[in-house]
Amino acid sequence: MMRFNSTYLKLTGFYVLIIMAISIGFSVAIYRISAIEIGRGLGRQSRMLQELSQTNNPFFQDFERIREQQIEDSNNEIRTKLYYFNLLILLLSTVGSYYFARSTLKPIEESYESQQRFTADASHELRTPLTAMKTEIEVALRDEKLEIGEAKELLNSNLEEIDKLEQLSKALLKLAKTDAAIKDDFRDLSLKEVLAESIEKVAPLAEKKAIVLASDLAELQAKGDKQSLGELFVILLENAIKYSPAKSKINIALQKIENHNVIRIKDRGIGIKASDLPHIFERFYRADHSRNKEKVDGYGLGLSIAKQIAEMHGGKISVTSTAGRGSEFVVKL
Ligand code: ADP
Repeated sequence: MMRFNSTYLKLTGFYVLIIMAISIGFSVAIYRISAIEIGRGLGRQSRMLQELSQTNNPFFQDFERIREQQIEDSNNEIRTKLYYFNLLILLLSTVGSYYFARSTLKPIEESYESQQRFTADASHELRTPLTAMKTEIEVALRDEKLEIGEAKELLNSNLEEIDKLEQLSKALLKLAKTDAAIKDDFRDLSLKEVLAESIEKVAPLAEKKAIVLASDLAELQAKGDKQSLGELFVILLENAIKYSPAKSKINIALQKIENHNVIRIKDRGIGIKASDLPHIFERFYRADHSRNKEKVDGYGLGLSIAKQIAEMHGGKISVTSTAGRGSEFVVKL
């Protein structure tokens, strides 16, 4: 992503600048110290040589010139080594910093992208019913012979769209709220009670399709937010009903398995294709139901809300499903 590429480079440059400032600072200090040490060492040698030179041996005449040459050579050698050392540090720190900058920014980039996608999807979903309503109203207003019956039909259709918008804004609000939920609000509660209440809520929906809700609930306690957990169960139950044929059966179980409170909701509905399975918990994701005769309403937000609620309670939702056979959603808390 372009925006992040320049951030990677900026951060890399920043890291390299800091590392190089330290490395060059140290190098200068090392060079100074070693230059002084070399000067001292050779100074001692030269004093010895000076004493020897008093013997008038011609071999020792040139010692002063040699000594300076030696100091110069040693300093040059140290300078060259430090130069290459810093070059190596520059190379390594550039590669290392870029890698470090990428791994630091990766999660931020991912969450930024998902937020962007979410905003785009949300505004698309909000615009669609609005555009439909606007067009209908404009057409009706242009019709000079509009009758009361037609006007009522229009209002009814608008009301439907408004209902959808209301549902959508509620779901969006719920997603935002669960994002910011605080665990301080958690209370001791009976999971059996919460689940039984959720089953009661969706019972009329099941009745309409003559679906049997068979439940087997153990008396289990947990800490959590009652309302959110209720919503989580309702989402899973409503889906099981929505995606099941009439007169089928849905099994609901609450059990303790290996220290976990486990809720299972098993339907015998249309199931989920293997290619859809990894995506169904994503916001706005809906499997393709176009082959179904009757289109099923929804925005693809339910499961992402359910997942968020489960995670907020330190839990997880998993699903096993076979297309055409049915699905089983398992919540482990
Ligand atoms: P919605 O139901 O509003 O489309 P969800 O987030 O609740 O959104 O579900 C996402 C998708 O997962 C659905 O569109 C559907 O394709 C699939 N799905 C969820 N639950 C079931 C189920 N019990 N049986 C079959 N498909 C399901």
